[in-house]
Amino acid sequence: MPTLVAFDFDHTIVDCNSDTYIYNVLPDRMLPQRMRAMYMDGQWTAFMNQVFIHVSEQSVTKEHMRSVMKEMPMTTGMKVVCHAQRCRMEICTSPPLNRSQELLLHLRSRPDLYECIIVSDSNTFFIDWALEAHGLPDAFRRVITNQASWESVPSTSDAPGGDDSGRQRLCIRPYHTHTCPRCSLNLCKREAIEELLMEPPAAEGDVERATDRQRRGYDRVLYIGDGGNDFCPATMLSAGDAVFARSGYPLHKKLLSQKSEVSAEVVAWDSGFDILEWLRTRDS
Ligand SMILES: [Mg+2]
Ligand SMILES: [Zn+2]
Repeated sequence: MPTLVAFDFDHTIVDCNSDTYIYNVLPDRMLPQRMRAMYMDGQWTAFMNQVFIHVSEQSVTKEHMRSVMKEMPMTTGMKVVCHAQRCRMEICTSPPLNRSQELLLHLRSRPDLYECIIVSDSNTFFIDWALEAHGLPDAFRRVITNQASWESVPSTSDAPGGDDSGRQRLCIRPYHTHTCPRCSLNLCKREAIEELLMEPPAAEGDVERATDRQRRGYDRVLYIGDGGNDFCPATMLSAGDAVFARSGYPLHKKLLSQKSEVSAEVVAWDSGFDILEWLRTRDS
């Protein structure tokens, strides 16, 4: 049976926070202070919609947003790309890599062993653009994240010459509603993964006596992340599972201080190569 490999996105697949990387489309590449002060705890989706209204008011086009977001850097060892115009030193000075040495390509090459998903508090557009930029649209079976769409900006009567007519702005909706007291209102990654594990099986089988995860057909779950909101899904993992926590980031600190809440093996990682090495040792 395959292993379910659940990835966080920000600071895990990409080495940045996509929700703040979008500030690069703004004048001075910064969100004004008055807007930063608008964030209320747990209300991330509402805050990002305010950011997107502000982006739209700066007349930033859809194409510009997309081209900027496609430049988000990947985390080392996930999938190395080297675009001639923005070749980074760390890549150019490294010995050439065999493509199977990159974590995401290795996982994609073994669909018999691994089924990958993304569980992220970003949104469908940012993630799709990044996967497209890095040639990975087919690497993930599912992307669980906030739903993004384009909305027309209503024309304002006092806009000189109707300059804003035809403009669109990004709008995001919460992934789901949930009852978890730990997580922000729009997404509990634990509940989202549990829902996935509860889905009907792909193949026929004895569904009566099987556990949830056996019904779905996974014999193990690996969770890879960095942030505080990756702690909740780590608590649902069993003894045979593993949670990979980026060294020095909030998830790692939380796991160290609340060890008793997690049954799975905890593995610290700095790059995708560390995770690949762990997989090779266990699965060879
Ligand atoms: Mg993250
Ligand atoms: Zn939760």
